[in-house]
Amino acid sequence: MELSYTQKRWSLADLYPSHDGAEMKAALDELETRVAAFEGHREQLSTQIPVSQFMRVVQELEAINHLLQRVYGFAGLKFYADTQDQVAQTFLAQVEQLYADLQNRVLFFSLWWKNLDDEPAQRLMVEAGDYRYWLEEMRHFKPHTLTEPEEKIINIKNVTGAAALNTLYDSITNRYTFKIEVDGDVKELTRDELMIYVRQADADLRARAYRALYEVYGKEAPILGQIYQTLVRDWRNEQINLRHFANPIAARNLRNDIPNQVIDTLLEVCEQNAALFQRFFRLKARWLGVDRLRRYDIYAPVTKSEKTYAYGEAVGMVLDSFHRFDTRIANLARQVFENEHIDSEVRKGKRGGAFCWSVVPRLTPWVLVNYQGRAEDAAALAHELGHAIHASLAGHHTLFTYHSSLPLAETASTFGEMLLVDRLLVEENDDQVRRDLLFKRMDDSYATIMRQAYFAIFERQAHEQVKQGASVDDLSVAYLENLNQQFGDALEISDEFRWEWVAIPHIYETPFYVYAYAFGQLLVLALYQQYKAEGERFKPRYLQILSAGGSDAPARILANAGIDIFLREFWQGGFDVLESMLAQLETIPVSRSE
Ligand SMILES: [Zn+2]
Repeated sequence: MELSYTQKRWSLADLYPSHDGAEMKAALDELETRVAAFEGHREQLSTQIPVSQFMRVVQELEAINHLLQRVYGFAGLKFYADTQDQVAQTFLAQVEQLYADLQNRVLFFSLWWKNLDDEPAQRLMVEAGDYRYWLEEMRHFKPHTLTEPEEKIINIKNVTGAAALNTLYDSITNRYTFKIEVDGDVKELTRDELMIYVRQADADLRARAYRALYEVYGKEAPILGQIYQTLVRDWRNEQINLRHFANPIAARNLRNDIPNQVIDTLLEVCEQNAALFQRFFRLKARWLGVDRLRRYDIYAPVTKSEKTYAYGEAVGMVLDSFHRFDTRIANLARQVFENEHIDSEVRKGKRGGAFCWSVVPRLTPWVLVNYQGRAEDAAALAHELGHAIHASLAGHHTLFTYHSSLPLAETASTFGEMLLVDRLLVEENDDQVRRDLLFKRMDDSYATIMRQAYFAIFERQAHEQVKQGASVDDLSVAYLENLNQQFGDALEISDEFRWEWVAIPHIYETPFYVYAYAFGQLLVLALYQQYKAEGERFKPRYLQILSAGGSDAPARILANAGIDIFLREFWQGGFDVLESMLAQLETIPVSRSE
């Protein structure tokens, strides 16, 4: 099939013809009928339930979710195509309500399953085929679960305890405004509006933006820091004293289903590679024409090339770089275009950025991009098509084991991006384009790998220090020390950055969440390094990882493909890829002409 690639809207016809037609009405009726029938299974759930009956219940739950995902997918995609459309807004709100209501009505199944004793659970799991890991994962917290009355008390007290403190943190910080002088005018801005200035060319403006931010957070640190200390103590009281996790980070590791030792190794390898990004920041200083970068400058733009790629050309390049890797994955990407599942136009009211939505197994995912012709837009296209390939390869799984878990979710997307970037780096002889691509890669890798790893390292230390009775000032001293270790003498760090930790919502709301970013990105770079080293031999193993979807624990999926995430050498491989990108960047003559 010959395709001409033009920027246009997607078609949602593979889901439903419209939000108010007979097909949608039938789907909503069917959902109600099925959920009502499912509620009737409640009495059958017992320790003695026969496997065949249990499997029928599981499959019925899957059928309900399958239908629900189709309806929800349609509503969400319709809304994102035009967020200003009131009909789409209203329909999405209705479907979200329905979603929550129906999930509550079927909740009894997972509650029963998590409470079931090990012996009957084992008996059912061994027969559950592809549903096994989904069932297993739900039960991971059983050894750390307390009695029902205790769990109820924790839930009740959490509402006015940790959860209330987090809400309070949000309420307090969302009220903040920041004063900054821009072009002679003093502006009063929200944090998001303020942070735009740290990425601008004006060096003094960048510094003013950070100072404005930490002037407020520094002044408020006694209160915010107290909230943090309390949440950290609460985490210890609950996760260690009551639930008997070995240490504070172990409770998060189990949620990600990653062994503790792997995360220890990952963070150690990150620390050992701190010098790599220090070298990058020294290079960036040369491009910006300064002796040493200040912490204010790390997101400063380096001059940009004007080169653009027509949409058809970009699609051709992406598909071709996939094709050179493997015909099958190129064909899966092509299906997104053939099925008209991509919305690539730039339109008023359309959601910004880019995403891939894999609705249900065996249905080609939908991709949204806002293509504007820059090399990074082509990279975004490769990224989202990578997600679509991942989902399509995993399409043989159940709905419950189809989506890969968080640590593996960015594998095919980042890998796809690397395939395109590598090709452009080899074939593009315009130094400016190569420079832009490499800077973008290094900037992104810094923000997702090193920065997040050092946050997690700080969290580990902060949890220990709070246990020893550390004050807010003690934590700030520890944070400055953390920055010094991360940046060495490559950056000049002014004193107000001691308050940076106070301003990171993740470490309050979801302790240790941040390392998942570093894990995912470094994993893909390490896989890419293996591909470069092994070529053809690597492909079947890579395709096996993608095909596994979310059907097993991340460490087991990778081990089955011959990858040992317990080894530090594996993680080092990821940094080796970054090192080679940096080395390429260092060969480009520094120029400062616009
Ligand atoms: Zn992604």
